[in-house]
Amino acid sequence: MRPSHGRDPSSNLGRGVLLKMKKSERIEKTMQNLEKYFDYRERTTLNRMRKKPNAFKILISCLLSLRTQDKNTEKASKSLFAVADTPKKILQLSDKKLEKLIYSSGHYKKKAKTLKHVSKILIKKYKGKVPDKKEELLSIKGIGPKTANIVLAFAFGQSVLPIDTHCHRIPNRLGWLKTKKPEQTEKELEKIFPKKYWSEFNALFVLFGQTICQPISPKCSQCPVKHLCPRIGIKRSR
Ligand code: SF4
Repeated sequence: MRPSHGRDPSSNLGRGVLLKMKKSERIEKTMQNLEKYFDYRERTTLNRMRKKPNAFKILISCLLSLRTQDKNTEKASKSLFAVADTPKKILQLSDKKLEKLIYSSGHYKKKAKTLKHVSKILIKKYKGKVPDKKEELLSIKGIGPKTANIVLAFAFGQSVLPIDTHCHRIPNRLGWLKTKKPEQTEKELEKIFPKKYWSEFNALFVLFGQTICQPISPKCSQCPVKHLCPRIGIKRSR
């Protein structure tokens, strides 16, 4: 996080006034505030990998990142890629060795199985390369919509919105949409969210969700966009 440079003039207005603003204006102001607040470009393992994109490594790190914190993803990714950074090399590892290398990411037995399966299919069907089409990625067991979109956005620069738990929860709290499932959120956001923010949306909202707008008891008193948020569904906050 970094201190906000240049105060958003709208933060001086009453909350009631702001909530009467057009939704598109609120989204724009929220994104401007979050961009200033978070130094997101350096912060997550997957985000740093965008600098020199390697589709296979991005896919594998994304699979390792499921249900764990970023520091664990980074540790597991480093250990694994030091030994095996291609589908062929992953398949050459024994199950035990692979599990040991990715242990820090949690759920390591299940993840090791997924990594082997994904590597096998990439070699069998795609000549060892990661496909750049969503349907093809989703056809591989273990790759869900969020992982597919991360790969498309981060590795291939495609204009898609990877929606994880933070990207689903926070826009609902902000009153941008009213959805029950991440797939619905993706569809609704595609309609209302400005394209210029698509490539950074996931990285920014993951950081925001991990540090401030947390699942249980968000830190609303420290939130850089509290003046733009109706706090939908919040019962307890700090
Ligand atoms: S005010 Fe609270 S609920 Fe709204 S975005 Fe900020 S942390 Fe989340």
